[in-house]
Amino acid sequence: MKNLTERKTVQNKWVKLICGASNEDIASIEDLCAIYAAAGVDYIDIAADPSVARAARNGINWSRKFFGNRPGLMISISDGKDIHFRKAKFDPNKCPADCSRPCEKICPTSAIDINGVNESRCYGCGRCLTGCPLNLITEYEYGIPNKFLKDILVEIKPDAVEIHTEIDRQDSFKEICKIIKDSDVELQKISVSCGLTQSNAQPIDLAKVFWKRYEILEEHRAKLIWQLDGRPMSGDLASTTAKAAINLLEKMSGLLPPGLIQVAGGTNENTYKLIKDQNIPDGIAFGSVARKLVKPFIDDAYKLNKKIYEIPEKMTLAVNKAKSLIKPWKIN
Ligand code: SF4
Ligand code: SF4
Repeated sequence: MKNLTERKTVQNKWVKLICGASNEDIASIEDLCAIYAAAGVDYIDIAADPSVARAARNGINWSRKFFGNRPGLMISISDGKDIHFRKAKFDPNKCPADCSRPCEKICPTSAIDINGVNESRCYGCGRCLTGCPLNLITEYEYGIPNKFLKDILVEIKPDAVEIHTEIDRQDSFKEICKIIKDSDVELQKISVSCGLTQSNAQPIDLAKVFWKRYEILEEHRAKLIWQLDGRPMSGDLASTTAKAAINLLEKMSGLLPPGLIQVAGGTNENTYKLIKDQNIPDGIAFGSVARKLVKPFIDDAYKLNKKIYEIPEKMTLAVNKAKSLIKPWKIN
């Protein structure tokens, strides 16, 4: 198969960094955003939380000053229960002293220690939920109640919004869209994220969801993005997750309403190798894989009690790593 770096058609597609819908460690969000903004991503997707937005903007502003890059800020919200908006918890006092602590080993963000789950590090992937032999770990939701959403939008003033939805949630989707409209926040883009999460759902069911959402969003002036969530919260690292994202794209080809198509959920460095020439999406979003790639540099800076951009040699290495992930999609 032809390498996509040789394909003119794939270059200059947009790339989005997913910081995590959950409220991850705020210190690392500033560094993460500075690195990927400098590397040239077009959008950065964050939790709908003003303190997270402030941290993200600090990183973006740094990038604008030194690299001239200013990606748009997108906030993630959900129209109902959603695995992107959950966290794990357990009472460490109930753990037997001789437990070999499989929960700690399985957690990809080192969110678990003897004190339980560190809320700011947990992004709700769910791996630990089945990892405890005593079933001590449970999940809880932390979505934003609709009554606070308008104020949050007005305070953050994002450039774009992503709405996570599911097949049977048209009414709650409509409600969220009304709040967005009433907020009067000028949005460049509205992204709708949905995947085939319901076991018996078929691509045609998903297409109907997007068409219904399109009817609701037609009155909004923002450009629409249909985000196909191949395998959400997968950790994004294996080639199988990249395949899941591409399979969904292929199944949905020709079924989607007018708008831009973005692949996400499972996307990683293998994704571009799997895409067929005739089916190249408008954009791609990278989550866990992007965060893991630069985490060692951010951790090193954190240990020195510095922002990563205060250590130029580390920042250069981190930006180069980030560029290596997005290179097939962007001309930098
Ligand atoms: S394994 Fe996933 S859900 Fe569990 S604590 Fe770690 S990040 Fe949170
Ligand atoms: S695996 Fe279960 S019992 Fe063991 S430390 Fe983790 S939460 Fe506690």
